[in-house]
Amino acid sequence: MPPTNTCISCLEEIKSGAKRCPHCHQIQSVLHSLNTNSKFLWLVVASLVALLFYALYTALTFDPQHQKLNPPILSNPTLIAIDTNAGPFITCFGHIENPNKERLNSVFLQAKFYDSSGEEIDRIMHKFEMTLRGGLALDTRIRGGAAHLPGRYNSCDIQVLEYK
Ligand SMILES: [Zn+2]
Repeated sequence: MPPTNTCISCLEEIKSGAKRCPHCHQIQSVLHSLNTNSKFLWLVVASLVALLFYALYTALTFDPQHQKLNPPILSNPTLIAIDTNAGPFITCFGHIENPNKERLNSVFLQAKFYDSSGEEIDRIMHKFEMTLRGGLALDTRIRGGAAHLPGRYNSCDIQVLEYK
């Protein structure tokens, strides 16, 4: 028995591959069979559109200059907390290194200060942009007025907020 299909119009059984129904003469269109898979088709179309937008987004936001640069490496954070005539004053010294061959044109740093239990009690943002030649390492310090008495400060560390 040859394989059969159902007519798209009258639903009579017809030979598989028949272009026209022998009962009602309806043309068995390819579009109709695609239509029955319309959910799948929409899924494919939606995926393609999403992919297109994603490609467009990455193309527009891709920054090759920023992409290849590694962040500067900070080490040896050292705290000094003192009393001055103007009030308590804290400094976090550190060592900063540019691991890239290229120059880092702007590095924004931030120092966090901790008490003896390790809780953060103060934070100072670096106020100026710093430039670092490729491969260069240097000492840096971030300092400012303290929110607490010097005795409460126990340690600090320096983080990179932004670099490019
Ligand atoms: Zn038919």
